[in-house]
Amino acid sequence: MRKLGLLGYPLGHSFSKKYYLDKFQKEQITDVDYDLYPIADIRDFPTLYQQDERFYGFNVTIPHKQAIMSFVDELSEEAEAIQAVNCITIAREGDRAYLKGYNTDAIGFEESLKPLLGAQHRKALVLGNGGAAKAVFYVLRKLGIPYLIVSRTKENGDLTYSELDADILKDHQIIINCSPIGTFPKIDEAPQIPYESIGAEHLLYDLIYNPEETLFLRRGKERGAQTKNGYDMLLIQAEKNWEIWNNVQ
Ligand code: NAP
Repeated sequence: MRKLGLLGYPLGHSFSKKYYLDKFQKEQITDVDYDLYPIADIRDFPTLYQQDERFYGFNVTIPHKQAIMSFVDELSEEAEAIQAVNCITIAREGDRAYLKGYNTDAIGFEESLKPLLGAQHRKALVLGNGGAAKAVFYVLRKLGIPYLIVSRTKENGDLTYSELDADILKDHQIIINCSPIGTFPKIDEAPQIPYESIGAEHLLYDLIYNPEETLFLRRGKERGAQTKNGYDMLLIQAEKNWEIWNNVQ
């Protein structure tokens, strides 16, 4: 049995564990296990993979996506640019373990966004400036889409929510929610943007996938905007992780 798992803390409900165990069952993969490894202190990570040679990969989530970088031997180009890792591989040769860190949130976002883009979608507003937003910035730069960061504090972004007006919204046709506002159970909350200035030319993308339709997306849809939740991004990154782990020698 080879082993994969999720590192984070705390780890309550996990999409990943259910996703991979369902996949293993459906695809009759019987020689891999996926489990949760809630470690509060990332310095405990080396002991975990060194004590059990069956580990060959992990997913990494909050709060370790940045700190894990000092435990890997190499970063992928995306992880290096984004400065966050959500997937690692462990290749072993004798006693030596070689760790590489990847960021697959970026590919999940890119591949789920690209099919929706039209000629009218020229510039973006990114709401929130945390870890997930960094992967979104990387993809927007890669796609050549200029963006402004909307943050609660002036120091942390280009604009604050109270500075948004009809002109700014007219000029930014893609609005991406990278804040946790509207996540279950607080489903009656939404980012404070002037929804009355949203129209059919807008594309509203929410990284949140629970609920399926956040209040942010619902209010955009009511104004005629195209909407997209974070579920495909999550699925694409999960499959990309699997592909990466399968290349470990
Ligand atoms: P995070 O670092 O905890 O927060 C992101 C940013 O949101 C913060 O830096 C903050 O930016 C803003 N924010 C936080 N609390 C807020 C509040 N009460 N009101 C307004 N803004 C607030 O989270 P993250 O890891 O970047 O993740 C962000 C969201 O993306 C989460 O909902 C997560 O579940 C989702 N996500 C989805 C996927 C996917 O595959 N679909 C992948 C990764 C993450 P400012 O301080 O600059 O305002």
